Amino acid sequence: MNKIYLDHAATTPVKKEVLDAMLPYFTESFGNPSSVYQLAQVNKKAIDEARETIANHLGASANEIFFTGSGTEADNWAIKGIAEAYKSKGNHIITSKIEHHAVLHTCEYLEKQGYEITYLDVDSAGNIRPEDVKKAIKDTTILITLMYANNEIGTIFPISEIGKIAKEHQIIFHTDAVQAVGQVKIDVKEQNIDLLSLSGHKICGPKGIAVLYIKRGVKIGAFIHGGAQERGRRAGTENVPGIVGLGKAIELAYNDFDHKIARVTALRDEFIKGLLTNIPYCKLNGHPHKRLPNNINIAVEFVEGESLLLLLDMNGIAASSGSACTSGSLDPSHVLLALGIPHEKAHGSVRFTLGEYNTKEEIDYVLEKMPQIVQRMRDMSPLYEAFLKTHEEEKK
Ligand code: PLP
Repeated sequence: MNKIYLDHAATTPVKKEVLDAMLPYFTESFGNPSSVYQLAQVNKKAIDEARETIANHLGASANEIFFTGSGTEADNWAIKGIAEAYKSKGNHIITSKIEHHAVLHTCEYLEKQGYEITYLDVDSAGNIRPEDVKKAIKDTTILITLMYANNEIGTIFPISEIGKIAKEHQIIFHTDAVQAVGQVKIDVKEQNIDLLSLSGHKICGPKGIAVLYIKRGVKIGAFIHGGAQERGRRAGTENVPGIVGLGKAIELAYNDFDHKIARVTALRDEFIKGLLTNIPYCKLNGHPHKRLPNNINIAVEFVEGESLLLLLDMNGIAASSGSACTSGSLDPSHVLLALGIPHEKAHGSVRFTLGEYNTKEEIDYVLEKMPQIVQRMRDMSPLYEAFLKTHEEEKK
């Protein structure tokens, strides 16, 4: 069995058509888009076309699309930019406890600068209650920043309802849609979204290119100072191949969309059912159906997530743990803890995220291997042994 890649929320492979679209812009069309001669103007045109394509898929206008170097940068710009531009109106920002660190750490930074941040709780399925958003609003609230869909558990927030609340209260609404774009249909105008972040490498586009959509009329200053690129708001010579690749990637992501999403959703549901049926003492994390079509996150009791991942890897399966160990610590994921999942279950959680090329055969293989691996780990676990003993005694 070849390697089975089930970590598409971490990153995705660049599609062949995306790479083919990008390649000429590394070699023959290498001109600087700011130059006036034809060699360069070809590149300016390619950027304009990509901007138009991306705008069309979001229900935005091309002049509301700003290219950045990453989803993290787009989140930083949105939050710091609004905080700065609207500080005479107020200093209060609403977010949630389960945002990506690109949002959470930016909010924590602003807190140190004197801003007040409300970190909303989520329910046990990882969802936000719109009434909690409403209740958190103060006279000083200038920004609501809530993710479209969670990167760990896949839960989709009620974005249209939140957009409506923000609009009614004349508060700017930013959503980090890095995981949602390409998996759900988005219309920024219909959903009252003022700012939206997306990133190329999550949708089979290149790494190092992303977008911040900024609705016309929203006040926000330059994030990077320098030349006149991105209408003077995000200076620096454009990443032309990256921009072209992102344009192509979004076009392909929404091509034959309903059919692709129905297929991935069916595969996801079969995968979840198989895991829950074949492995005792395991539970789905996140919402049962208001979740991204490609996300499976399960808590497996009496195993340690990191070891499970290593064993999966030895069997050719690439997945991800629920533990955030970016800082070298093995603290359980802030997302799982916010759902009220106890530490030991959060530690035993694994995330599988599907891509459009994953097959039923691959899922069947994982469903065959996973129970064996889990059983082998449990056989070595003193906790599991103790649990079984108590369980048997209780039955007597
Ligand atoms: N926001 C979410 C929800 C993400 O999942 C990620 C990446 O994992 C980011 C932001 C950051 O995007 P990038 O990797 O492009 O910086």
